[in-house]
Parts: sequence; C-alpha cells; structure tokens
Amino acid sequence: MSIWSDYDFTKIPLDSIERVGQRTLLYRDLFCVSWLLGRFCNYKCSYCWPYARSDVKDHRSTELVLKTLGEIKRQARERGFNSFHFSFSGGEPTLHPGYLDILKHYANDAENCNFQSVHMTSNVSLGLGWLKRYVEATKNLHRVSITASYHKEFAVKERFADKLVFLQENDVHVTINSVMVPERFEAIWDDMLYFHERGINVTLKPQSNPTATKIVDGYTEDMLKKLKNGMPQRNYTMARMKGVGKQSSRPSPGFGKLPRDPDVNEPIPPHFQVELNDENGKAWYLDQAERFNAFEFNNFKGWECSSGYRSIIIREPDGSVKRSYSCSDAPLGTIEAGFDLFKSPRACQTESCVSSADSKIPKRKPGAPLPLWPGDKTFENRCTDSMKSRRSI
Ligand code: SF4
Repeated sequence: MSIWSDYDFTKIPLDSIERVGQRTLLYRDLFCVSWLLGRFCNYKCSYCWPYARSDVKDHRSTELVLKTLGEIKRQARERGFNSFHFSFSGGEPTLHPGYLDILKHYANDAENCNFQSVHMTSNVSLGLGWLKRYVEATKNLHRVSITASYHKEFAVKERFADKLVFLQENDVHVTINSVMVPERFEAIWDDMLYFHERGINVTLKPQSNPTATKIVDGYTEDMLKKLKNGMPQRNYTMARMKGVGKQSSRPSPGFGKLPRDPDVNEPIPPHFQVELNDENGKAWYLDQAERFNAFEFNNFKGWECSSGYRSIIIREPDGSVKRSYSCSDAPLGTIEAGFDLFKSPRACQTESCVSSADSKIPKRKPGAPLPLWPGDKTFENRCTDSMKSRRSI
C-alpha cells in the first residue's frame, strides 16, 4: 500500500508554515488564469447567489476573448513564464458560443509552450455528442481537467456520473465539487459517496458565510473531521484508462518531473497538489487548496504573494482583470481597456484568501528564504548561499 494512503492532513503544523503553493506553480514556469466567461447559465438552482448567474446571454465576442488570451501570454512570457493553465468558469462556460473554438485556438499554441493545461468548472449538462467534440478540441493539450458541479435539482445522478466516466476514459481528470451545507450534510455525503464509489474524485467544500470570509457555524466535530480528511483525491483517470486498455496520447511537457519529497526521497503523488513548507524547511502536502478553508488557514495578510504577477482572474459582468478573486487590491485593468501585470510579487493586503484559485498561488511569509517559482529573482537577490541550500529548486 502507498505510504500516502494514511497521510494525515491534520498533522500539518499550520502555525509554522512560511510558504504555500501548488507544486506545479512552485517548481515550474506556469502562469495561471482563472476566467469567468459570463454569468449566463441554463440551470436556476435555488441556492445560487443572484450575482453568480443570469438568464441573459452576456458573453464577450470570441474575437475579443482570443485577443485577450494572446495579450495575457505576451505579458506572461515577458516575465519569464511560458507554461500556461487556463481555468474557465461562469455561469456555465460551455454555453459561450465560441467555447470550443477558444479551446482549439489555445491548444494550437501548445508547440510554442513548455506546457499548456485547461480546466473548467461546469454543470456538465451538455450531452455526450458535445463532450466528444470537447475531448477532440483539447486533445493537443498537456493536461485537461474539469470540476463538475453536481446540482441535484437539475441533474440525474447516474447520467451525470456516466458522462464523467466517459471523460475519464478520454484522459480528462475529473472532480465533483460539493458545498457541504451543515443542515443537509448527511444527505449530500451520501450522494458524494455514490460518486466516490464509482471511482470519481469528490471535493468536499465547507460552506462560507455571505461575505466569504469564514466558514459558517453549525458543523459538528464529525463533519469537520470529514471535511478535513474525507475522500482524499486519487488518480482515478489513469486507473479508468487502464481499465479500458487506453494510454495517454497527450504531448510531453517541455520540463522534467516535479521534485521528490526531500525527506523520504519518494516521488509525491500528482494528486497531492499543494506543498506547505514549515520554518525548518520541511515540506508538507495537501491534496488540494480547497482544504485550506476547512482548516481556516486562509489569512495571508502581509505575505508576499505572486498573484497579479504570475496569475490573474478575469470576471464578468465588468470584464475586470484582477490579481485574484479574494483580493481587495485595485483591478489591473479590464478586457476592453487593457491591463498590466505587476512587475514583481506584492504583499497581500486582504483579510481572507478564501477561493482555492487564490490560495494555491505561491506565497511566503515576509523574508521567508524560499522561492515562489524557478528563477525567482526576488528570492535570489536577497538570499545567502546557506538560505538557498535549505531547499533545492
Ligand atoms: S488574497 Fe490575494 S494577495 Fe492575498 S494571499 Fe490571496 S491571492 Fe494573494
């Protein structure tokens, strides 16, 4: 059995952590974009926030989306990043009329990049025919993943799971997202267990308060235990492909493997996405940044954060380009008028970093002797040799 099967996230010494980040961002030249394409959605869930959806088609033109995508890459490359991760959401992103064309255009640039991946958060309401075209449009990308939002009021559980299994068989990594509302915890848990037992990853998200600054009251000890350690992520897609006799035919990235764990000299499973380093330089791992909120580990005010420099978010309806979702900083610009990325990482000035799209972006305590990306000059310039040798990069 893998040494990671009983890895206990509650053992992480959160008080002494001085750097966090998604490993693919810490150790690669990866630039991250989280892009809310519009608020139009074909579902009308009773619990959806009014600002999060619209019945009105509010998408920007495919031409403007492609122009913005090119400008993001240009500025990122200027800063030394030539690997890209684009994450599309909405509303329902698959309803953008040019969505598959946008993905094809993005995938066509793969040969000029070290790596390109795409993610979407979708209700997966479109049928199998559309999913086949989606698989085809993204086949030249190095990695493709989706967060599938299960909405019980609209989706049939078995059919929803069947579509996700089809995606897994076609080399798409899938996780189902569920907000674990305390009042309905057991019923939601049972639904999630159904998916988990069908070999589909599940992300259990604690419910946030309306200002998204902390998790709501009402969780019992047992519920919190499940949120902290329940249903750990596994590489189900690889297992599924093996099961149907398929091998991945995605291109190879232009960089090597991620570093091994320095303490045990073992490779770290790819589904352990987040690394946390304590003040003694020891590395700890979480399967995904979504778990930060369950531990209420989301206040990075004063930390040096690389969002806005090597990552941005774009949101509608105003088309603003921001450092991240949670940040109280002024926007970097807009899709229509243009935008400028920061010239270097900047201190966080926000009380809580609640979105996982934000918390996964590498950040460190002021003065922490650890780089935020390979070739991080801001680290190199102030670091002594002994500080550098604390951890190989
Ligand atoms: S709120 Fe923004 S600046 Fe602060 S840690 Fe999160 S992403 Fe970084």
